[in-house]
Amino acid sequence: MSASAHLMLLEEIIALEERHTSGLNTKRPIALVRGQGAVVWDANGRAYIDCMTGHGVAALGHCHPEVTAAIQVQAATLVACSEAVYNDQRAALMEELTHHTPGDLKRVFLCNSGAEAVEAAIKFARFFTRRTEVIAATRGFHGRTMGALSATWNAKYRDPFLPLVPGFRHVPFNNLAALEEALTDQTAAVLIEVIQGEGGVHLAEPGYVQGLRELCTARGVLLIVDEVQTGMGRTGRWFACEHFGVLPDMLCLGKALGGGVPMGAVIWREALGTLPPGIHGSTFGGNPLACAASRAVVRVMERDGLPERAARLGEKLLADLRAIRSPLIREVRGRGLMVGVELRRRATPLLRALMDRGVLAMPAGSTVVRLLPPLVIMEEQLDQVVQAMAQALSDATAAQNGSGASEEEG
Ligand SMILES: *Cc1c(COP(=O)(O)O)cnc(C)c1O
Repeated sequence: MSASAHLMLLEEIIALEERHTSGLNTKRPIALVRGQGAVVWDANGRAYIDCMTGHGVAALGHCHPEVTAAIQVQAATLVACSEAVYNDQRAALMEELTHHTPGDLKRVFLCNSGAEAVEAAIKFARFFTRRTEVIAATRGFHGRTMGALSATWNAKYRDPFLPLVPGFRHVPFNNLAALEEALTDQTAAVLIEVIQGEGGVHLAEPGYVQGLRELCTARGVLLIVDEVQTGMGRTGRWFACEHFGVLPDMLCLGKALGGGVPMGAVIWREALGTLPPGIHGSTFGGNPLACAASRAVVRVMERDGLPERAARLGEKLLADLRAIRSPLIREVRGRGLMVGVELRRRATPLLRALMDRGVLAMPAGSTVVRLLPPLVIMEEQLDQVVQAMAQALSDATAAQNGSGASEEEG
């Protein structure tokens, strides 16, 4: 009676989603129905190399056998279990995950998304410091719940929902003097991405992050690094803060953490202590299903050396992209397998051209094409991505010159 989703026709899928959609997303006219490794298939059976990975969620690729097995086994063992009791999967995950967090980042709050992690970190910072203000950076993105949104920069996300939470301020990214200026005796935390994702793949300068750390320490302010996008091996280290040799007071995680199962976490320094019972919580936080999936992610990432792999492949990807000679490219930036190609024009037509060539990529802002391939992507597949990019760019230049010529003729 009910056909499984991948047997539905594309038109049928689009019609049903359009009938009920919130309207919040501008969608491309394809329906993805299956994935394996770095490849996804649409409802018409067409294959794509996936450099969107659901905004970096599928870091181990799609349907990694160990993540799939962990979910299957746990689904048949125990799925619902509140934090009012202990649980084997949760206990093991906390221990195994914090084996990889730097310094004394050992205390863990588990939740279900990046925004929830940021939201919790803001509350915890207020609690630990008994202060109220938070300083974030221009172009920063931290999620869309009211607290996280208050730290997010983009007016397009903020303006429809004003007024937001009071006490939030934005200072120019990579400007230490501006940050110092903005600190008050009420500043609870500085909240930043050390590599900005949604904001356009912008890297913090090492001196800036180290200076932030020193300033925060000197002023009794907590340094919260939002690694929802950069965490879990994406940038070539387990956590991007490690590139800077800086130990944050709190880390926010999400996206890749659950191997596709919704999962978020805040991890903070042992030195800050624990929180009193009941002041925060989450019904689904630390559920055994998500924890089992996340344990598989941590295990595979460690065993297969995926952060190191991301570093190695990322260097090659950056070099190959930089070798593309196109007048449309302004800059190629990134670290590990988090890469942005900034264009001298809007990114949308190029994203469409890449899709036509079998590569799915994402925008980051209006002019940056962002690539977040799975960390398990094969080198030949990355070569195909670079080729598709080079061809799409050269087609776009040819079309531009062609239309320029015909305008002159006309
Ligand atoms: C995606 C993202 C978030 C929000 O995560 P959600 O799971 O969408 O709530 C927060 N911070 C950063 C840096 C992100 O990239």
